[in-house]
Amino acid sequence: MIRRIAIAGAGHAAGQLVTSLRQYQYDGEIVLVGDEPYLPYQRPPLSKKYLAGDMPAERLYVKPESFYEQAGVELHLDTRIEAIDRGEHCLCIAGGERIAYDKLVLAVGSRVRRLPVDGVTLPGVHYLRNIGDVDGIREGLESGHRIVIIGAGYIGLEVAAVARQAGLDVTVIEMADRVMSRVVSPELSDFYQIEHTNQGVKLRLSTGVQSINGKRRVKSVTTSEGDDIPADLVVIGVGIVPNTELASAAGLDVDNGIVVDDHCRTGDADIYAVGDCTLHPNDIFGRDLRLESVHNALEQAKTAAANLCDKDVAYSQVPWFWSDQYDLKLQIAGLSEGYDEIVIRGNPAERSFSCLYLRDSRLIAIDAINAPRDFVQSKAIIAAGEPVETDRLADPETQLKDLAAASR
Ligand SMILES: Cc1cc2nc3c(=O)[nH]c(=O)nc-3n(C[C@H](O)[C@H](O)[C@H](O)COP(=O)(O)OP(=O)(O)OC[C@H]3O[C@@H](n4cnc5c(N)ncnc54)[C@H](O)[C@@H]3O)c2cc1C
Repeated sequence: MIRRIAIAGAGHAAGQLVTSLRQYQYDGEIVLVGDEPYLPYQRPPLSKKYLAGDMPAERLYVKPESFYEQAGVELHLDTRIEAIDRGEHCLCIAGGERIAYDKLVLAVGSRVRRLPVDGVTLPGVHYLRNIGDVDGIREGLESGHRIVIIGAGYIGLEVAAVARQAGLDVTVIEMADRVMSRVVSPELSDFYQIEHTNQGVKLRLSTGVQSINGKRRVKSVTTSEGDDIPADLVVIGVGIVPNTELASAAGLDVDNGIVVDDHCRTGDADIYAVGDCTLHPNDIFGRDLRLESVHNALEQAKTAAANLCDKDVAYSQVPWFWSDQYDLKLQIAGLSEGYDEIVIRGNPAERSFSCLYLRDSRLIAIDAINAPRDFVQSKAIIAAGEPVETDRLADPETQLKDLAAASR
């Protein structure tokens, strides 16, 4: 019988895990250990409404403190786990404390990738992963200030949108030749480049960073082309790396993520892993994935909780993600990598349309821009993996769900 479940990391997945364990009637002890001083919170608003000052900090939390009290959770916040002692079944905390477990769930997430250039530690230079980072950025987010954002992925572009709306002079530097190149098609990159340019953002594509300069605080960023761009504030968003070190030091299998099976189990029968830190099999796409998304964190947490409660549930999900920039809500389902055909549904000029990605006439992904119905309805078609009629896909008068029914 399981009497004590420890959760390592107190982020988004951990918050869901506590909820799901209690929903599945697990009545043993739950210990939550996280190195941040906060209860589990949502990160997406950190580069959106919370950064813009449109959301109070209390609304970031997955659950209020009273929930953890009522659920009888033993909380260890601001507490860093240094190692896992698998033989003794305990977590080793700095200072010598040990926290015992019968079952352990690793929900340690990921951390920002650091930029290896001079000047990154100057005051006024920020990364963006946690609440404290945003509070630092916000101090410099004043109308008339000049912000240089390094990296045109989701986070960089979301910050650019918030900063423009706050009246800052915004420059975005990106190594690749188009924005969001890792996840969206060239067609969609073009659309977003035009949007940001129209909003007054200066995009410097195919450009690297040589150094960040200043004496007491940041003054400028020198590009790979030798240009000096004045800056009062710099935000770096160049990707993340999964926190796998605890797992690998404990001898668990790690491969760009903590390797788990479709039940979220590692190779140790008493250790599970969930969320950003995992490499897990996806049966719909037939390959292993490491995802950086709330949906994955929540669904893996539910899967792990079910299996810890003897329910025998396999994780099987179409991945999805979203990004808010200005009044554009981008919702992505599936994985577009490897597509051989793209269908544009609707009219980009009306700022409400979808890019549908197909391989062998099967829908594998959608990027829906202000088109929530397409996004919702596409998931079933992607999951079904059946061929679809391309010309009907392009017709916005035909609902995607009717095509899903037709393909069955
Ligand atoms: C600014 C921002 C915007 C985002 N926007 C979106 C979005 O729009 N849509 C979307 O789907 N996703 C978004 N994401 C990604 C999403 O937030 C993550 O995928 C999600 O938080 C993953 O949850 P997690 O629980 O796996 O990891 P996390 O939420 O990162 O939690 C892991 C926790 O474990 C802690 N930890 C790590 N190591 C240790 C240790 N040794 N001891 C103790 N604690 C430890 C970490 O400090 C952290 O608190 C965004 C992320 C960021 C940063």
